[in-house]
Amino acid sequence: MGVTAKWAGSRLLLRRLRDVMAGGGSAQERLDRIVRLIASDMVAEVCSIYVRRAGDVLELFATEGLKAEAVHHTRLRVGEGIVGEIAAYSRATALADAQNHPNFAYRPETGEEIYSSLMGVPILRGGRVLGVLVVQNRTSRTYTDEEVEVMETIAMVIAELIVSGGVVRRKEQTPADGIAIAPLRMEAVKLNAGLAMGRAVLHRPYVPVGRLVAEDETQEQDRLSEALAAMHKSLDDMVDQADSAGSGDHVDILKTYRMIAQDRGWIKRIREAISTGLTAEGAVVRVQDDTRTRMKNVQDNYLRERLLDLEDLAYRLLQHLAGGDAAGTGGALPENAILVARNMGPAELLDYDSSRLRGLVLEEGSATSHVAIVARALDIPVLGRVKGIVDRVEAQDHLIVDANNGVCFVRPGEDFRAAFALSMRTFEEKREAHRRARDLPSVTRDGVAVDLMMNAGLLIDMPHLHESGAAGIGLYRTEVPFMVRNDFPDVEAQIDIYARILDQAEGKEVVFRTLDIGGDKVLPYFEAAEEENPAMGWRAIRIAMDQPGLLRTQLRAMIRAAGARPLTVMFPMVAELSEFEYARRLLMKEVRRCADRGHPTPAMLKVGAMLEVPSLAFQIEALSGRADFLSIGSNDLLQFLFASDRGNPRLDGRYDPLSPPALGFLKHVIEACRRAGIPLSVCGEMAGDPLQAMTLIGLGIRRLSMAPASVGPVRSMVRSLDAATTSSFTESLLEARGHSLRARLAGFARDHGVSL
Ligand code: PEP
Ligand code: MG
Repeated sequence: MGVTAKWAGSRLLLRRLRDVMAGGGSAQERLDRIVRLIASDMVAEVCSIYVRRAGDVLELFATEGLKAEAVHHTRLRVGEGIVGEIAAYSRATALADAQNHPNFAYRPETGEEIYSSLMGVPILRGGRVLGVLVVQNRTSRTYTDEEVEVMETIAMVIAELIVSGGVVRRKEQTPADGIAIAPLRMEAVKLNAGLAMGRAVLHRPYVPVGRLVAEDETQEQDRLSEALAAMHKSLDDMVDQADSAGSGDHVDILKTYRMIAQDRGWIKRIREAISTGLTAEGAVVRVQDDTRTRMKNVQDNYLRERLLDLEDLAYRLLQHLAGGDAAGTGGALPENAILVARNMGPAELLDYDSSRLRGLVLEEGSATSHVAIVARALDIPVLGRVKGIVDRVEAQDHLIVDANNGVCFVRPGEDFRAAFALSMRTFEEKREAHRRARDLPSVTRDGVAVDLMMNAGLLIDMPHLHESGAAGIGLYRTEVPFMVRNDFPDVEAQIDIYARILDQAEGKEVVFRTLDIGGDKVLPYFEAAEEENPAMGWRAIRIAMDQPGLLRTQLRAMIRAAGARPLTVMFPMVAELSEFEYARRLLMKEVRRCADRGHPTPAMLKVGAMLEVPSLAFQIEALSGRADFLSIGSNDLLQFLFASDRGNPRLDGRYDPLSPPALGFLKHVIEACRRAGIPLSVCGEMAGDPLQAMTLIGLGIRRLSMAPASVGPVRSMVRSLDAATTSSFTESLLEARGHSLRARLAGFARDHGVSL
């Protein structure tokens, strides 16, 4: 809902409210005056303020029109009754006939049975519901949208009184009162593995905005213009800085962000809010509250990311209005900072000094959210969906992020911290040992070489290539840089991305996988119809065949980026030979086109396919002489083999890759490739887990590509292994039955001193 209030009384009412707020008396007396004022101005028989108290209870704090004895007696749980629902969903509600609403919760002590209509809005501060403001009428009155908007603005002013006016004790404003100082163990979704311990830093802590009601509209409009100009300038500086530092992804992310800061609709809404009588700060907060409410109801990934950016921009703008240097929201971080946020955009994360950032904990967030993608590239452990964390954590609290097991410990005791520090140290020592071993050859005890490659997707991944000692990039997911942008990169922009990757690889091989969009990989700007079954839907090579322009552009950019250097290209989700042939033909056409135009062409060209769809396993012979290599995408392959959604947490771990059917299938593929003379690698998650990697080597795989952090552990495993013994043991298991062979494989590793 936009702020288009033209309601004549709005400005006057705000002024009167301001006078009440500034006037004397206790907080209670001021609330009493406020409800009287609103009731008379809105021509309502009833106006009430419910304040949220500890234990998620809404208590009637002040009323005009309901029985006085109900004040401080009537209580509703959040979610109970219409008022409770407004708080639960932080959504305004206007009902001409409230009495007959299914959620009406009748409280005899209030005497409200005579009032038919009701309009209520949440009292919000910083996205948190502090209470509910309600008006009621005897007649079945239809409240207009403008009236609802005016109430929302008033609620904002009341929020300020609740926060700063001592209406309830400060601590009570957090619903977790009572357990606020106790240690907590909170379940989370793992968005990036790792361990971290440190002190909480609240992202965008609450900043009191001060004056909300304006004296002079023109002056406020001018202040807004100045703050906007200052903000735009500081964003320009940020982009320039990132640009001159040559950090490609940052620049793309920041440019998108800068573009959103110019959003006319957003600026117009702020200007309109000023015209209702608010100060520039008040107007920004008002529009920010709207954004947050919209975000709660938006499922669409693209819109959510954009709303997130707007929310962040509002925060920056407030800092400029306050006259602060708001070049970034990052600010100074303590050593060992664990960032806690409801959600955040990738540009905001990049604002923090990543050398001090140990972990990130998000109340929302999903594996595909942009901030998670960037955090992964920065190697920061991330937990998502930690319900209620923002309300339960105070700045400086001790936090432990166990993103290996999906748990966040809030204010852990000293003993626990000491124990955790010990496991972290062991973990760190191991990492350090791996780092030191990065130049040791990846060869088994009996002299079998196993190529260890790294998976990547962003430029900020690239330093890990040399740190980990990986032999090259075995899977470069080209969709990732597409995912953090706001629009399709054209040929030039793509050439730039791929050339930088090749430059930074310094001659090591890079396997460029063409766009794998669809499924859970959503490109915000790419319109695709809703699908019942997106993982098995219109994705990857299927899109490329239906819209060859996309693939051609991409191939052209790769060829141009490579110049005379070698180029390796891989096509995802190939289900049948003809798809591979088609894509390969396009590639060859593009090579000829480049040559015709006098551009250099790759000195060596390798073309391969991912084996992710089981049907391809039965066409390997036909690929002989056509495909230069195959790479098993075990994530997708196993999801299709077991018909088990890889992204569904309820199915997590239900089927074991180390099971007779999975290993039997892999063995079939390995044998078929051997017969067809096609080199085969594995680049799904299986390759990065030492025990599973050991098994793959036992089955005959000699090239593995994995997340950067896995290269060290897998190298140690390889160097401690006897390939021949492992092979005979693995072969002997192929006839076995049962759900899993994991225990037997782990037993073998233990008995043979394999480092896992
Ligand atoms: C896979 O499916 O195993 C794979 C490596 O591709 P992605 O995870 O990008 O789907
Ligand atoms: Mg895949």
